[in-house]
Amino acid sequence: MAVVGRPNVGKSTLVNRIVGRREAIVEERPGVTRDRKPLDAEWAGREFTIVDTGGWLAADGGLDRAVSAQSERAVAEAAAVLFVVDATIGITDEDAKVARLLRATAAPVLVVANKVDGDSRETDAWAFARLGLGDPHPVSALHGRGTGDLLDDLVAHL
Ligand code: GDP
Ligand code: MG
Repeated sequence: MAVVGRPNVGKSTLVNRIVGRREAIVEERPGVTRDRKPLDAEWAGREFTIVDTGGWLAADGGLDRAVSAQSERAVAEAAAVLFVVDATIGITDEDAKVARLLRATAAPVLVVANKVDGDSRETDAWAFARLGLGDPHPVSALHGRGTGDLLDDLVAHL
């Protein structure tokens, strides 16, 4: 599994939630994740590895080319891609660009509308259906809300 999305949407927090350990680095400062080491995870008796990425789109995100190339490789090798977006912000230009690239990948893509910490954010999550990558999965990586349903859908793609 590869986890992609622009900085600060909660990719590393989600990876930590899924692996059940604090392995991915969570920072207030965007774009700090540098480690592309696949981490072991398990759900419903299914084992898989998950790769946190530092970002995507070197030119637009201000990330260095090596980080971007590693992200693209992680996506190319993934059985499924988790595309994380921020439900408190809505679709940004960068989200739309990433979506365009992901619509061309062979692997199934699950849109993860993160930061849905409470009921009032549920409707915000549905706006991401417009990315053209299927129904968004509303989750709160921070509190664990919705992550069980997400993992059920994720392991169905293994
Ligand atoms: P990344 O850059 O995409 O890896 O994002 P991080 O995982 O480092 O998280 C960026 C910021 O968003 C941190 O301050 C997190 O605590 C916060 N964050 C992550 N997930 C959630 C969530 O579900 N709800 C809220 N309210 N904040 C979150
Ligand atoms: Mg990160």
